Amino acid sequence: MQGTVLYGAHDIRFEDLPEPTIQEPTDAIISLPATCVCGSDLWPYRGIASFAAPTPMGHEYCGIVEEVGRGVTSLKRGQFVIGSFFASDNTCPHCHHGYQTSCQHATPVVGAQAPRLRVPLADGTLVATRDMPDADHIPSMLALSDVMGTGWFAAEAANVNPGATAVVVGDGAVGLLAVLSAKQMGAKRIIAMSRHESRQKLAREFGATDIVTERGNEGIERIKELTKGVGADSVLECVGTQESMIQAITSTRPGGSVGYVGVPHGVSLDGRQVFFSHVHLHGGPAPVRRYLPQLIDLVFDGTINPGKVFDLVLPLDRVAEGYRAMDERRAIKTLLRP
Ligand SMILES: [Zn+2]
Repeated sequence: MQGTVLYGAHDIRFEDLPEPTIQEPTDAIISLPATCVCGSDLWPYRGIASFAAPTPMGHEYCGIVEEVGRGVTSLKRGQFVIGSFFASDNTCPHCHHGYQTSCQHATPVVGAQAPRLRVPLADGTLVATRDMPDADHIPSMLALSDVMGTGWFAAEAANVNPGATAVVVGDGAVGLLAVLSAKQMGAKRIIAMSRHESRQKLAREFGATDIVTERGNEGIERIKELTKGVGADSVLECVGTQESMIQAITSTRPGGSVGYVGVPHGVSLDGRQVFFSHVHLHGGPAPVRRYLPQLIDLVFDGTINPGKVFDLVLPLDRVAEGYRAMDERRAIKTLLRP
């Protein structure tokens, strides 16, 4: 088969790769009707995060079970499944507490920007849907694999309650779906920080009530103004830079919560600032696996449509173009069709 490999900064190639095969008895092989590029793929693509080149790319996936290892008991060929970017056994203490991305046997899933994929720990990792989703549902199912579950975790970690005022820092796919998640959890006021018109529009569609275009100190001032000098109950940090993290902590009222899901790049916090802020900090790699059953139901019954974040669709062999469009912020998120 042919798949996506990163060779160096801005060097994405679509080339021959070995067919995925069952390597452990707990593996499954799935075929992918669609795959996509993640905002986090842009860190190594831009040369900011280091990686061992050449490296197969892609960690978001949903698809049809083609083959299972002899140790797999809960899945069978032909089922439609979704999994997280970390494989997990779903049986260890951390999984039982709902932190499957910290599973004692957590293994990253790699190589999903391809027609077929090997998923380790298939019984614990994959969730089968009751019915076969129709073509219209596929983008939303794919979004559940990472960005939707990550936005959901941001809202949960930020303790969004009915009636709350929430601020979302970041207008990438995760930030936009964090807006949707805050709305689902009953936030009354949702302030989205965004400077891009198309993203502001989608944020409003997902439930944002206010848009703040300022950043840095001006952005913090604007949030203070909008909350009568108090600060927000919940701030959902979906970027991972020093500026966005400080923005999040400083925009939160004493006793409020920051949910942070942007992978930190160059973030260091001042202990005294954190101490005197009185804010709750919770975040990390989202335990997407925990939310899959609930989110699958919300997609099937039409409550949420997270697939709207895909504003560029390309055949998989034009994957390099998909990366470029996201890198240049011409696209929010690229969906690829094998
Ligand atoms: Zn586990």
